[in-house]
Parts: sequence; C-alpha cells; structure tokens
Amino acid sequence: MDGNQPSAGLWSIAEREERLLAPYAMRGADSRGRRRPETEHPYRGPFQRDRDRVLHCAAFRRLSGKMQVFTGERGDYHRTRLTHTHEVASIARTIGRALRLNEDLVEALALFHDIGHPPFGHAGEDALNECLAEHGGFSHNQFALTLAEDLEQRHSEFPGLNLTEEVLEGQRTRVKHGKSAARLLEVQVVDIADSITYDAHDTDDAVKLGLVALEELSQLPLVRETLRFVRARSPRLDGNLLRKALVHDLIDRQVSAVLEHAGPRLAASGFATADEARHSDFRLGPDAALAEEKAELERFLYKRVYRHPELLRVRAVAQQQLMALFEVFRRDAAKLPVRYQRRAEQVGIERSIGDYLAGMTDRFCDQQYQQLVLGSSGA
Ligand code: MG
Repeated sequence: MDGNQPSAGLWSIAEREERLLAPYAMRGADSRGRRRPETEHPYRGPFQRDRDRVLHCAAFRRLSGKMQVFTGERGDYHRTRLTHTHEVASIARTIGRALRLNEDLVEALALFHDIGHPPFGHAGEDALNECLAEHGGFSHNQFALTLAEDLEQRHSEFPGLNLTEEVLEGQRTRVKHGKSAARLLEVQVVDIADSITYDAHDTDDAVKLGLVALEELSQLPLVRETLRFVRARSPRLDGNLLRKALVHDLIDRQVSAVLEHAGPRLAASGFATADEARHSDFRLGPDAALAEEKAELERFLYKRVYRHPELLRVRAVAQQQLMALFEVFRRDAAKLPVRYQRRAEQVGIERSIGDYLAGMTDRFCDQQYQQLVLGSSGA
C-alpha cells in the first residue's frame, strides 16, 4: 500500500460509496472527522474503523457477561447483552442495506449502542442512578460516551477510542431521548432495529423460559397475525419450532413494514444529502397500524415479563449488591483499583466509583459483593 491510496484493483471507499449508496446516505468522505485528526486508512473507511475499534475494545467484550433481561441463573438459551447487540447489528444492516444507507456507519452505531450498560441491565442502571442522584445521575447511554471518550485506552497520547463525530453524535441523540432531535438516517435505522430486536427476542426468551404461554401472547394482534402466517405456511409446527418460526416472522414482518413504509417515501423525498434528510421531519418507522400493534406487544412484555415476580426478585438482589458496593468504595477509596482512585481526583469519588461499577460484568460484580461486602472469598 502506498500512502492512503488503495492498490490497483481495489475500490477506494469514496468509489464504493458513490456506486452503492443513496444520495441521502452518510458518506465517509463527508464525516466531520475525529477530535484527534488521523490519517485516513487506504482501504478501511472511517466508520469501518469505528466499528473495529468498538469490536476490539474491552467494554464490548464484557457485554458477553452482562444480562439483557434474564440472568445466567436461568440457563444459557436466552440473550446476553452481547448477543442482543449482534442481533441489532444484523437487523440494522439488513434495513440499512435495503435503503442503500451507509452499512459501515450502521454497524458501528449498532455495536456501540449498548456498550455503556452496567451489570444487571436496567436494574443496575436504576441502582447506579440512585447512588449518583446528587452527582449527576447515571445513564447507560451517557456512559457509552464516557467509555468512548475517556475510559477506553488505545492511544498513548490521549484517552478514548477517538471515534468519528457521526458515531458520537448518534449516541448523544440517545442520551437526550429526543425523538425530535435531528438524527442521521443511519442512526434512525439502529434505533428501530434495536426495538424490533428486543420485541422479538424478549418474546422468544419469555416463552422459552415459561414466563408466558404462546396462547396468551397470541391474543395480541401482532402475534396473532404473525402466527396465522406461520401456520398457513407450516401447519404442523408446534413447541420449540413454532416459537422459533414466530420469532423469525415477527422480525421479518416488522423489518418489511419499515422498508415498505420508508422506502417509497425516501425515494420520493428528493433528499440530495444526508444532512438534508437529517434536518427534515422524515422519521424511519413502520406504518401507524403496525406501530400501534408493536406498542401493544411492548406494553404486554413490560407488564408480564419485565415486571414478572422472578425478575423483580433478581432486580432487588442486583440493586442491593451495587448499592452495597458503592458504599464500600465510598467509605474506603483505597479499595478501588489505582486507576479509579486517580480518576476520582478529576471527576469526584462518587462518579469514579460509578464508572468502575458500571464497567463490571454481572459475575464480577457478584464476586466483588461476596468478597468486599460479605467478606468471603467467593470460592
Ligand atoms: Mg439495545
């Protein structure tokens, strides 16, 4: 390779994007770049490099030890935060590719989107938020930015991953929860893919774990309609195979609905650039009827799964562990790793403890609780 030009026979990133992407897709060449400028790579575009940085960072690998909805106590079938993330990336790429958006950016955003989750999922997040109530609170979306800009180490000269502004900005719109915030189409793709993914896999996990019965779920219009299609195609399916076919079709149906609704509107939009699309009032999503059916499924999952007594029990244990550990470190900062003792000098002891706890996997958090709170070796 010579400088930042690709060798003969290889496509440059700009050439590839020019041939494949829609006018309203974000282009690598138009990126607002990185806080610390870097020479472009000859054949890996800026968003591809972001994806690889996320994939190779410590916080990403730790997602394998973090629960999505169910803890490891319930076996090994259900999703972890890592497998959830891969499912989101896969569905997001399908949507992004079909709409001729920038798949590299979509993938980087998807792999990054949940990287800030603390141990024990939303229960852990709520516990940390309470611990830090007087110190700015805690949100997993914000913590993803702290990881990317501060805590991850890969350069000797500066902290963080030095991701592009587009990936960081996409994550910032998640922090603000602002549905009205101007978001690149690629960011919208990941948001909708995230929601399609958890609707489908939480349904799958809840049925597989026996928390809800398929018969009960089939009273919801979205599930009922989907099952009707599955049964028309394969009348003999039952048990596990029926459940798997339902999950497949739930995803397919929702992805198709998004594409059928958004594709023609985008084609007719006349958007000439990614920026034009971003600042318009176009929002990626399914048609209103499917959006309502989807909301109904989500209300059901909230009541019957996320608020299931067994999950509430796990939630209580997780919160107790995190809060007790928080107190242990606050009383005796010397128990923190040296790195977080030093960090406390910049961000305050509470925030530094929160950052340390948020980085833990479920199992490590449990071990630390056994050791530091209960005083056993945990062996
Ligand atoms: Mg997610």
